[in-house]
Amino acid sequence: MSDPFACTGTVSLKPGREASVLRRHPWVYRGALATPLPAGCLPLRVQAANGRPLGVALPGGSGGSLALRMVTFGREGWDEAALAALVRRAAALRDRLALDADAYRLVHAEGDGLSGLVIDRYGEVAVVEPYEAAWEPYLEAIASLLADGLGFSTVLVRPAGRAARPVRVLRGHMPEVPLVIREGRLRFAVDVEAGQKTGFFLDQRENRRRLGALAGGAEVLNLFSYSGGFAVAALAGGAVRAVNVDASAAALSLARHAYELNGLEVREPDFIEGDAFRVVRDLVAAGQRYGVVVVDPPAFVKRRGDLEGGLRGYRDINLHALRLTAPGGLLFTCSCSALVSEQQFGQALLGAALDAGRGLRVLERRGAGPDHPVSAFCGEAEHLKAWLCTVD
Ligand code: SAH
Repeated sequence: MSDPFACTGTVSLKPGREASVLRRHPWVYRGALATPLPAGCLPLRVQAANGRPLGVALPGGSGGSLALRMVTFGREGWDEAALAALVRRAAALRDRLALDADAYRLVHAEGDGLSGLVIDRYGEVAVVEPYEAAWEPYLEAIASLLADGLGFSTVLVRPAGRAARPVRVLRGHMPEVPLVIREGRLRFAVDVEAGQKTGFFLDQRENRRRLGALAGGAEVLNLFSYSGGFAVAALAGGAVRAVNVDASAAALSLARHAYELNGLEVREPDFIEGDAFRVVRDLVAAGQRYGVVVVDPPAFVKRRGDLEGGLRGYRDINLHALRLTAPGGLLFTCSCSALVSEQQFGQALLGAALDAGRGLRVLERRGAGPDHPVSAFCGEAEHLKAWLCTVD
């Protein structure tokens, strides 16, 4: 196989468009290119209009307007040692974060200097999720690093581009699904083969913990529950009941499994399979109230064109969540759309509170845990807003 680190060509940017790259921002959009992007997946040298070298980039093929993802800057070399150094730095960082969990994000793309590459750790299993086909030629080198260098027994890859392509085994063998992982004293069931993302929402770990500490004595409504993370944390923290709502039957069976792993009683009415937008209306009509309501929907805004509709979605689901929150109760409401700013999210919540005729006070503006670092040079990559509010 040809050397995946050898540059196959050079692209020039339009005059002035080098400024963000000089500030170590890894994304270059199509509109910034002065020369066409050569076809293929191999790395390219990037230069300013005046010929100044800006670094090496992988081509972005994911369809959007992203043309290049910088992997080195200036004259830094792009080779196996450079890739290994970044992966090792990422692993060393996690080792010192005192996460008290055997599952965490090992490599968080831009936040670890590896734009478009995610690697999650589930115990001894590493799951690699490249967002671009351009990472494919590096998977063999990455698997060696993870297995031989970092001691993972199993390395899996979820191929780029969501199409229902199966998870591939790069090292070891396909583990029995679901895997069991630990967060503090809690256990969760992770489906690395067919689950969402790489199998679990690792970004909510610290928020699950926080909710667990606040849910004692409460009845909890967990909207968009996926594998029941917030419900298990709340029940282990002394909540009297938690109702999970998710559109996916597979997600709810992972949630039931997580209840069993933690010695919690599985009561069928607490697992509602359905569209949360409909279920909340039914619950409002039935006069239900909860001391704690969690709203953690999928990203409603995946591209800029979704913004208006997505913000309406946040406003609508939070309006109903507010109606379902008992006075003095807690609303823990999230958006994982990177394209929605804190300000826009706040406005959607304000609109919902006005429509509901309820007071809403923000207690904590939280985000993803520290295993999801955000590069100061690429703040747009920050995705999760998780706000703890009290509803009057
Ligand atoms: N709170 C979860 C993560 C939620 S991810 C955790 O902490 O692990 C978003 C979830 O919303 C997914 O499980 C998906 O199946 C579900 N979902 C997507 N659209 C939905 C809808 N309209 N109604 C209910 N659930 C939905």
